[in-house]
Amino acid sequence: MGYAHYKIWRNGQQIEAGYGVTATCEEPGCRAEIDRGLGCLCGTEPGGSETSCGGYYCGQHLYMSLDGDVGDLCGRCITAYRREHPHVDV
Ligand SMILES: [Zn+2]
Ligand SMILES: [Zn+2]
Repeated sequence: MGYAHYKIWRNGQQIEAGYGVTATCEEPGCRAEIDRGLGCLCGTEPGGSETSCGGYYCGQHLYMSLDGDVGDLCGRCITAYRREHPHVDV
């Protein structure tokens, strides 16, 4: 029920998500334990969007875009986002 546990489609694959689902940070080499809630999501949409990959990361590997619609992004997505939004100075 609610956001604790649900299934989403990502890159043609169904995965379990929600803050009740424990996982490991998806940054290669990082072993931080996280959950698949929105707080660990790259972007704001489970499954990804135009600006986000939909991956789940620890706090060290999420970067603030300072845009509420975009949310926090992983290293790869924030790099792409900043390239397209050079006025965003972080
Ligand atoms: Zn990403
Ligand atoms: Zn990490």
